This record gives sequence, C-alpha cells and structure tokens, in this order.
Amino acid sequence: MKLNQLILPVIALGAGATFFLSGAEEAQGWSTIGGSLGLGQRDFRVFNNFSSASDNNNQTPDAQFPGYQGADMAIWKACVEWSSVAHGDGSGDPTQATIGSSGANFDPSFQGSATEVGGTNSNIHSQIAGSNGGVLAYCETPISNGWRIRYYEGWNWADGPSGINQNQIDLQSVACHEYGHGLGLGHSTVGNATMSASYSGGTGDRSISGDDQAGCQAVYGVISGSKPRITGLNINGTQMSISGSNFSGSGNEVWFTQAAIGGNGTPIKVTGVNSNGSSITVTVPLDAGPGDVMVRNNGTGNANLSNPWPSDMQTTGGCTDPVNFCAFLPNSIGSGAQIGFNGTASISANDLTLTCQGLPPGAVGIFFYGSNEGANLFGEGILCATGDIKRLTVQFADVLGTITRDLDVNAAPLNSGSGAAISGESKKFQFWYRDVPGGPNGFNTSDGLSVTWCD
Ligand SMILES: [Zn+2]
Repeated sequence: MKLNQLILPVIALGAGATFFLSGAEEAQGWSTIGGSLGLGQRDFRVFNNFSSASDNNNQTPDAQFPGYQGADMAIWKACVEWSSVAHGDGSGDPTQATIGSSGANFDPSFQGSATEVGGTNSNIHSQIAGSNGGVLAYCETPISNGWRIRYYEGWNWADGPSGINQNQIDLQSVACHEYGHGLGLGHSTVGNATMSASYSGGTGDRSISGDDQAGCQAVYGVISGSKPRITGLNINGTQMSISGSNFSGSGNEVWFTQAAIGGNGTPIKVTGVNSNGSSITVTVPLDAGPGDVMVRNNGTGNANLSNPWPSDMQTTGGCTDPVNFCAFLPNSIGSGAQIGFNGTASISANDLTLTCQGLPPGAVGIFFYGSNEGANLFGEGILCATGDIKRLTVQFADVLGTITRDLDVNAAPLNSGSGAAISGESKKFQFWYRDVPGGPNGFNTSDGLSVTWCD
C-alpha cells in the first residue's frame, strides 16, 4: 500500500520522522513480509484499464521497452527497476540514468498485456474504480504464490516518462513501490526509500534507494558471480543469438514475452538449449513478441535466472553479430572486464551500443578500436585491438561496475577517414580502464569485440 503524503501527512510521516530524529538514520529501514517469489512467479502483466488521458499519454516508443507505451511502459519500467542489473543498454529514462539496480538475485519477466484484472495471485497490475482515503494503490496476497496490484482510479495518475505536475501521481513510482511488496518487502522507515509508506510527490520513487536494494538482497541474496547475464542479442532471420556469461553447457531455457494479449503469464520458453557459456542461439518462437528475453541456466534457484534484455523481435537482416575475441584478465575486483553489445552492426540502423561489465565501480576508462586483432600483454590486461587505433571519450563505470556507450556511425571517428564504419569491413573494439590497486601498471583492459559492419 502506498499512502499519499499530500493527503494524509500525519499518517504518512509518523514513525519515519521520529526514527530520523533519534539519530539512527544509518540503521536498516527495510522490512519483509515473509516469503519470496520463485522462478515460477517472476512474470508480471498489465491490464491497461487506466481510464484518464494522462494515464496513457506517453505514446513515444522506447527501444528499451519495445512494443508498449503509456501505462504499460511505465509499469514495465517500474518492475524492472528491481532487476539485478541495468535493464538492456541501461539508458533509463529522462528522470533516472539507469533502470534496474537491485544488485540482488532477482529479475522479473514482463509478460505483456492481460485482458482482465485476474485473481489475487495472477501477477497483474490494473486500475480499480473509486478511491479509499489516502490510499493510492495496494498489493494483494503477496507472496510465494503470486500477487495482484490495483491502483485507485480516483487519483490523477500520470505515465511519464518525464517529470509530472504537482497535482499528479506518478504511476511508475507507485508501481515500483507496490511491486516491492509483490516480491516480498514491507515498508521501510527510511524516508527516501521507495518502500517508505508515503508518496511525497514527484518521480523520486522510480529509483530504488540503497535501503530498498539491501532489502531485496536480504530476500533474494546479493547478486551471485555465477548468475547468468545477458549483455546483448541480435536476430538474424528466425535465429536469435544471445551473448552474455554464465550460461550452462546444456539445459538452458530462453524465456520470451508472450506476443498474444491475455494468456496466463507463463513466459514463452525454449528449453534444452546448449551454450558455450557466453553465447546462445535459438529459433525465435512464433508466439514470442516484443518484450524481454531472459536465460535460465540449468538450475532453478534465484541465481539461475538472468537479467531481462529487451527485444522488438524484429530481424536485423543480413548483419552478423559482433563476436568476442582475445581475453580479459583478472582485475582488482574479480575475474576481469568483459566487453559486450546491444543492437546491431547495421550502419543504416545505427543502433550499436557497446557495454562493459566486471569493472571496478566508478572506474575511469575509454572504449577504443582498431583495424586488426592482437594479443600482447598491456598493463594488467591484453591489447586485443591494434592497427590504426581510434579512441572514444572518457567514461566512468557505475556502482555496479558497468559501462555502456551508444555508438554513432554518423559522427567522428566512425563517420570518415581510417576509423570509418564501412559495410563489409571489421573494427576491433576494446575497453581500457584504470585499476590502480589491480597491479603494478595501474591499468587493465577488457577482451575484444569484433564488429563487421553491414548495410
Ligand atoms: Zn506500501
């Protein structure tokens, strides 16, 4: 339940304000309601019966949330904010740099549209007529066998994605709070936590706080180093290739969002899929639609399901996937930094995003590329990209040690000269980063990514 602080300030602030005044602000604020959602209950759907114009007036498509706008997109964003790592390329929305940040062994599966409000454990978000005092929304019968979330029609909801007016209630913020109940959290005594009992206006609750993260991690465990992770995918004809890490040699499942409206929320699955550990190729099921793709490796625990990665399910034609080559070496925080991608090597699509994970949090570095492949020791890493080197601008890793960069083939250095993206030619990308405690040289590198540009 989320109370509107603007309407019921006394109820909303009571315990939390006292807690802060006692000087105990560093104490745990989160609470749990007992239980957790197993992998069979990670689905969520939206019955979009939101009735006023401002509930569904965001009709601008977002490549990270393909196929859905309005209230559907706002709720999709809200739920995947609880994902283990950044959703897709991590580009977030106008009010938050990154969506997806729990750092826990928890990831939800968007299953598109429902056609009814469903039962109390159907895992569906919907509006309910009327109002109930200061209550904005509520979550029913969480937890282990599912939940249902209702939003009172009596409030002036807004679907974002930018800031909202003072007299509006931010659907994405409240949905993020209610889904927190769905996955097993109670209210937090930390005032700026998404799970605090009151909504104080604006869009702040769209981003979960450190206290919310700690609560989610307490229920599902801190993100495991062996958890499968998707870092990019591509569709060529009927074949989807998924790149990432920690896929099992056999017995993987690939989960898709259902294409049809309705259904029972169960993800569309391709089972028994083999992998070399870092890439998976599957035939896209005919009943899969725009949404999120996930990989469950050959276990059934919280740490065996990957992050959700968006796809519009459209083929990218004759382009081939970028391919990892060379190797990464250990750094100060773990086994090393791995380069990845999202989008395609299509020059006309111009949608290639580079990613790098496994970096020291906050690490400074640059993506660079060359024309040839190499394998010479370089700092604490390996120089995989050689030839005519082109450097991109300086970037900093986020707190999870992740970095992304949208490439633009229409801007320097990719638009002309020896660094140009030319159909049929390859460029070798890599990430260089400082890692002062990591070794005597103070810097390290990711492995390489070979991109063969196509039309
Ligand atoms: Zn609540």
